[in-house]
Amino acid sequence: MSQITAGNTTISLVRGDITEQDTDVVVNAANTSLLGGGGVDGAIHKAGGPQILEECRQIRAAQGGCKTGEAVMTTAGQMKASKVVHTVGPVWAGGSKGEYILLERAYDNSLNLVRKAKLKTVAFPSISTGAYRFPTEQAALVALGTMVRFARKHEGALDEIRLVLFSDTDLSVYRKALDEVQQTMMG
Ligand code: ADP
Repeated sequence: MSQITAGNTTISLVRGDITEQDTDVVVNAANTSLLGGGGVDGAIHKAGGPQILEECRQIRAAQGGCKTGEAVMTTAGQMKASKVVHTVGPVWAGGSKGEYILLERAYDNSLNLVRKAKLKTVAFPSISTGAYRFPTEQAALVALGTMVRFARKHEGALDEIRLVLFSDTDLSVYRKALDEVQQTMMG
């Protein structure tokens, strides 16, 4: 399965590059410094240009970075999207250090920033499953479960929540998780 509808919001899975998405918002898998890094973070700053880092620096000066599980919003610079939400997922440390709830908060706080900005479509990468080593199967269930709960709670707030997977392997893992979510939450 590669898409479901919950509370009038389409939740979809695609293979692709987060920096090329035509959604109103793209989400960055940032770190607490907000000063850039590798993976998604490096790709977003490279594609969007220096204005994003400039705004991240201003946020850092005002509030001292971004805690794990929280999210902030900047321009998307030269990307097609109009805004970037920077969120910080947890570093995997075995699963008993609050990783699940922190990953859920990262998705939920990001979705709420989009909703409060009255924007309608958002694309997420697979937060925490790269350098931060969160197991993809479990991260996929957290991501999709949080999206379904959000879409039901805020019915009609968003038109599309898209998950952009960078490899065929990740896409198939997320598809399987979506089947599971469909059976357990939508049945
Ligand atoms: P984290 O530090 O939160 O683990 P990473 O950026 O290291 O974040 O990786 C998160 C996921 O995003 C990984 O599955 C990685 O393969 C994927 N990824 C890396 N670059 C891109 C990109 N340009 N678009 C979409 N996904 C990407």
